[in-house]
Amino acid sequence: MEKLWCEIDLKSMEDNLELIRKNTSKRVLAVVKCNAYGLGIEEITSFLDKKVDGFVVSDLDEAEKVCSSKPVLILLPKIDYEDLHRIKDNFILTIDNIEMLKKLKNRPYTVHIFVDSGMHRFGIRAQELDEMIRKIKGDYTNITIDGIYTHLNHPRDSKYTRKQIQTFRQCVEKHVNQIPCIHLLNSRGYLKYKDVDFDNHIRIGNLLYGYCGTRHGFKKVFSYKARLVSRTKVGKNKYVGYGNRYKTKKETYVGVVGVGYIHGFNSTRNVKSGLLHNLVRYIHQAIKREALIYLDGKPVDMLGGSSMNFTQIDLDGLEVDQDSIFDIKLSSILADGMIPKEYKY
Ligand SMILES: *Cc1c(COP(=O)(O)O)cnc(C)c1O
Repeated sequence: MEKLWCEIDLKSMEDNLELIRKNTSKRVLAVVKCNAYGLGIEEITSFLDKKVDGFVVSDLDEAEKVCSSKPVLILLPKIDYEDLHRIKDNFILTIDNIEMLKKLKNRPYTVHIFVDSGMHRFGIRAQELDEMIRKIKGDYTNITIDGIYTHLNHPRDSKYTRKQIQTFRQCVEKHVNQIPCIHLLNSRGYLKYKDVDFDNHIRIGNLLYGYCGTRHGFKKVFSYKARLVSRTKVGKNKYVGYGNRYKTKKETYVGVVGVGYIHGFNSTRNVKSGLLHNLVRYIHQAIKREALIYLDGKPVDMLGGSSMNFTQIDLDGLEVDQDSIFDIKLSSILADGMIPKEYKY
C-alpha cells in the first residue's frame, strides 16, 4: 500500500474546461509544461486530447511526451541542430530571434512568433517584429507563420497589463489577415481581461488544474493523501523530532506520515525569496492558522519540523487506525517526481 499518493480528479478538470469554454469562444490551448504542472503529461494530454484545441509545452523533450496529434506549441525559442529531426508535423516552434531562424532550413516548419511586451524573459521587441516577418516571408519560404503571441507577466496590475495588451494589439493589427493564431491570455489574464477581443486563442494552465479561480467556481483537481507509517506512545516532557523543537506536555501518541522536504512539503524555508515576502507569508499562515495536514477536514498538528521524508504528527484525540487517510497540502509542481498518481473520473 502506498504511504503517500496524489489523487487526480479528471472529472473536475473537465468541469474546469467546460467553465472556461462557457465564457469564451476562443480556442483553448492547454498548458501542460513541466509535466502538466506535476500531474503527469502523458495522462493529462491523452485525457484532454479530444477536448482542447492544442497543447503548450516548455521544450522539445516535453513535446514528444504529448499523447495527441493536436498542435503542440513549444515555448522555448531555442533549438539545437541535432534536434531538428525530432520536430513532428504537429509541433509548432516559438521564434524570437534571427539566430534560430537560420537553423530552420530545408524542410517545412510551423512557427509562432513571440513578442516581448514587458516580461523581458524571451521575445522579440515590438519594433523588430515587422522586420522579422519580412525576413521570414522573403528568405524562409519553408517556414509558415501560423501565430503570434505574447505573455502577461503581472495580470493583477491593470495599468501595466493594459499597456502590454495595447503594445501587442498594435503589433498584431498590421498582420491580422495573414497570421491565423493570436494569443496573449493565460489563466489570470482570461479571468480579468474579458474585453480583449483581437485574439482567438487562450493558453490555460493554472485554471485547468484548479491552482487558481476557486472563487470563480473552478475546482481543485489534485489532492495528496497519506496513511500512517507508524504510531508511538511518547511520555511527558520528551522531545519529538529534529532539533528538539517540540516537547510533549503530557503523554502523547505521535504518528508518522511519509511526507517531507523531498516532496516539497513544509519547505518554505528552503524557498529563496525576499525576506519581506517570506515574512508576509509567515504572518499570513499564522493568522489563517493554515494547517498542512488534515484528517476528515480537521487540521492535524505537526510536532517539530519535518524531515527529509517523514513528518511527525499529534494523534491525541484523533480516532485513527491503519486505514485512516490524511489529506496533505502539497504543491503538485514541487511534489511531482516520486509520488504515485491515481487518476479518477
Ligand atoms: C505557463 C504559461 C502559461 C500558462 O499560464 P497559467 O497561469 O498557468 O494559465 C501561458 N503562457 C506562457 C508563455 C506560459 O509560460
